[in-house]
Amino acid sequence: MFSKVFKILHHPQINTPYSLEDILKTDAKVDFLVIEGALSRSEKILSRFGYSFKDILDILSKKAKYIICAGSCASFGGIFRLQNEAKIFGALFSGKEKGGFWFNNSKVINISGCPMHPRWFVETLLKLHYGDKLSLDEYRRPKEVYSYLVHHGCLRNEYFEWKVDCKDYGEKEGCLFYEHGCQGPMTHANCNKILWNSVSSKTRVGSACFGCTEFDFPRLALYETKKHMSLPSAPYGISKRAYYSLAGVAKGFKIERLEKRLIDENN
Ligand code: SF4
Repeated sequence: MFSKVFKILHHPQINTPYSLEDILKTDAKVDFLVIEGALSRSEKILSRFGYSFKDILDILSKKAKYIICAGSCASFGGIFRLQNEAKIFGALFSGKEKGGFWFNNSKVINISGCPMHPRWFVETLLKLHYGDKLSLDEYRRPKEVYSYLVHHGCLRNEYFEWKVDCKDYGEKEGCLFYEHGCQGPMTHANCNKILWNSVSSKTRVGSACFGCTEFDFPRLALYETKKHMSLPSAPYGISKRAYYSLAGVAKGFKIERLEKRLIDENN
């Protein structure tokens, strides 16, 4: 489907009809400039081309109708921001930290995720190609994907509501929010709705969501629940007061069914 609709003109690692030099020299326009990886602030001239990396991006961005930042590194700097934030642009920072290479470039669309789900990418390109309306959130991510939370569709929601912890990674029972750092209630993406390879997700196999689509990814201590006075942060969009009152009530009940193994080999 993808190759029937789109023609890839250049990619550094796959066999494509044009070299980067061809693309830089031509006056022809392209529909999409797709960027992967964090962007460098370096002004160093790349000897093969006689341009700096920044020049190359400027030239290519003018040719493109849309600039797609594929993955969290291209969108927000990703793991490289931890190493040396000063040298990394990211493609577009907004919200908490403004700046970035193309902060004001309305062509930019961020498809964050580490990795980005291939369906988010293909669906976004198809929508743009067919002229469908694409609404973006404050981080210029498609709302169709990023208005959901990873928490939506997680099979552990009942355990979350009754504050029943998962005892260990890989277990079918319990919620990973209280002790294992699950960021599902704060992370925008529809992973648990569309699933990976249409069959699974981190939380379905007993691993916590570590918030890879968010602007501030990666946090340090990915699998640790940050607590204040022994209470985890409230889920996204819920007041602390409401959350802690409800959590206190729920924790007071012991729901026997939820404390048991789903499949008990001994019974
Ligand atoms: S494991 Fe994570 S995503 Fe699933 S219910 Fe618990 S907090 Fe939500």
